[in-house]
Amino acid sequence: MSSVETHAFQTEVNQLLKLMIHALYSNKEIFLRELISNGSDALDKLRFEAVSDDSLNEGEEELAITVGFDKEARTVTITDNGIGMTRDEVIANIGTIANSGTKKFLENMTGDQAKDSHLIGQFGVGFYASFIVADKVELTTRKAGTTEATKWTSAGEGDYTLETVEKAQKGTEIVLHLKEDMDEFLEQMRLKTIISTYSDHISFPIKMLKTEWDEEAKAQKTTDELEQVNKATAIWTQPKSELSDEEYKNFYQTISHDFNEPLAHIHNKVEGTLEYTSLLYIPKKAPFDLYDRERRYGLKLYVKRVFIMDDAEQLMPTYLRFVRGVIDSADLPLNVSREILQSNKVVDKIRSASVKRILDELTKLSKAEDQSSFETFWDQFGQVIKEGVIEDFANKDKIAKLLRFATSKDDVQAQRVALQTYVDRMQPDQEAIYFITADTHAAAKGSPHLEMFRKKGIEVLLLSDRIDEWLVSHMTEFEGKPLKSITSADLKAFDDEAEKELTEEDKKAREALTEKVKNAISDLVSDVKITHRLTESPACVVSADGDMSAHMARMMEQMGQAIPKQNPVLELNPDHALVKKLDSIEDEAKVKQWSLFLLEQAQLAEGDQLEEPAEFIKRMNALLSDMI
Ligand code: ADP
Repeated sequence: MSSVETHAFQTEVNQLLKLMIHALYSNKEIFLRELISNGSDALDKLRFEAVSDDSLNEGEEELAITVGFDKEARTVTITDNGIGMTRDEVIANIGTIANSGTKKFLENMTGDQAKDSHLIGQFGVGFYASFIVADKVELTTRKAGTTEATKWTSAGEGDYTLETVEKAQKGTEIVLHLKEDMDEFLEQMRLKTIISTYSDHISFPIKMLKTEWDEEAKAQKTTDELEQVNKATAIWTQPKSELSDEEYKNFYQTISHDFNEPLAHIHNKVEGTLEYTSLLYIPKKAPFDLYDRERRYGLKLYVKRVFIMDDAEQLMPTYLRFVRGVIDSADLPLNVSREILQSNKVVDKIRSASVKRILDELTKLSKAEDQSSFETFWDQFGQVIKEGVIEDFANKDKIAKLLRFATSKDDVQAQRVALQTYVDRMQPDQEAIYFITADTHAAAKGSPHLEMFRKKGIEVLLLSDRIDEWLVSHMTEFEGKPLKSITSADLKAFDDEAEKELTEEDKKAREALTEKVKNAISDLVSDVKITHRLTESPACVVSADGDMSAHMARMMEQMGQAIPKQNPVLELNPDHALVKKLDSIEDEAKVKQWSLFLLEQAQLAEGDQLEEPAEFIKRMNALLSDMI
């Protein structure tokens, strides 16, 4: 007698299930695609492992998936004779969310189904899709090469049970006890249609009973009566001309577990010194774990139709990690390992050709009359593409042309302006591409440094993605135009121009003012200067020559790096009333108060945190009271 053990679902799983059932109700038939896809993966894994250990086949010749149903019991059954799972694997894979990224993602949900349902699009559906149609699911599985089988049972609410059972055939059987209103799935034709719609290109046979279910067929369920209901030809092996968009889409959804359509697919058969086929997809929506290092999926590697591995990261650089698809090579050995892939000439060539194809496709989208596809792409994956400028030196220029930015000329926060567009509309005498980096779009847009550029009609790129600071440190020019930060100290040209118009007397007076302020707060600033870059604000801060930008320093600190304290250069706007007021004060204590006040408000405007915000408020109130 085996004992039944009860385990609780993680709370997140309950949440996820509810959301999924709600969001996918109108697409309920996809449960079959998801379970068949899992079955196909299990067959792929078995075939791969059996290459080195034939005993795992347990004497069975054919690898297949069987779909059956029972009208009386109101069940649909999906069976595969693939790799199966051990008890521990069942616990780890089914009903658990082990991945920390997933947990974090789910913690972000509000509990409001209408609000959360858009989130589900970022989430791979998978096994849980069973609960869209079933109110009880039994999964019985035995790992190939082992003796003990495990039965997992759940109603998809709160908990599941585990039981040790007997199972003659290796692999996994899933029995779905259908909900009241799901009788449509108890029809031979309905199931067949779903399979040929969604799973035609699964490369293993999917079998069903030849005839409509009846007592007789049920009594003598033998394999003879089964027939294959899918094409079972791997889609990538077929000529492009024979494949419809619909077929490409269905295959994408099968391998990605994404129920959105892909944005684009790129299918190539290469013959010659190297022989391989690639079918690559660009998704429409970023997965929730795009920035998670533990994430799976990506490219599947096949060697002569035999599945070798998932998530073959060696076939795609990190900045293209969102690409999905299949690469099938005729030149790699079947026993290829991840280590071998790392330093393999064949892999390197396939990889650089695939990267080129993806960048070409993106370039094509970026030049299309209708920009909507590219904009969708950029909003989802733009930040990741920016990594490419740093990571992929060989394709740097191509990637630079794809970049899109928010700018001071556009009123939108969305990143829509290409560097080429910027260059094309530069002022006649403008020599550089100007940018500002800040923590948020609003902070970049509101920076006092922009004032003079606005006045002169010079466009400035507003950079606020975390990656931007690194991006501009790697991309120092575009089409021969240098990229320059408007907060860097070397924008002297603008100041020199204004200085020319000053009398000697003016210059002396200004020197006296900067000296006075510098003496008052010498421990907090590295220098004090007069600037002509401000029109509305009294002061701003810039980094001293050779120092990293304040924004970069803040980011490094957030990442836990110790940054030696850098004193900024304080720049004063001589035409501003507050600076004039400061100029007129003689009392040393008061000069200090005013100077501190100007420094602190300039730091605040940059998005800096003040060490003593309460002191700042006190100072401000004291100065205001003085004025009343
Ligand atoms: P996904 O397929 O997206 O990884 P699922 O929730 O569908 O997510 O499945 C989780 C894991 O459970 C799979 O990655 C696989 O390891 C395992 N699994 C699911 N179905 C099967 C099956 N039929 N045979 C063997 N393992 C399976």
